[in-house]
Amino acid sequence: MNIFEKIITREIPSDIVYEDEMCLAFRDVNPQAPVHVLIIPKMCVPSTNDITTDNAFLVSHIFAVIPKLAAQLGLTNGYRVVNNCGADGGQTVEHLHFHLLGGRAMDWPPG
Ligand code: 5GP
Repeated sequence: MNIFEKIITREIPSDIVYEDEMCLAFRDVNPQAPVHVLIIPKMCVPSTNDITTDNAFLVSHIFAVIPKLAAQLGLTNGYRVVNNCGADGGQTVEHLHFHLLGGRAMDWPPG
């Protein structure tokens, strides 16, 4: 069981900010911005490489949640959504997740 599955089952505590039947959002333990939340599907999809027409509904659901979550978290001036895929993408947890970052202006391009 990966670390995010343990967060879903509450084996590992986390600061949960949103939950529904399909996804969970919780604050990143190592925040890179004043607001840094991870949004994950409850169903384990290891990475973006594993998104198919059969499970893409999870991604569309998460992206429908993001605007509501951003408003809930007070991100009225914009935000960034990041997905890291694989080693070169900087992915460290093999459970699909989207970083929601805000509360400061973001640099571009990212490092
Ligand atoms: P990745 O590098 O895979 O895109 O992002 C994984 C993220 O998970 C990192 O930003 C890291 O700080 C966060 N993370 C890793 N372990 C835990 C944990 O146990 N709890 C929480 N809340 N975040 C975690």
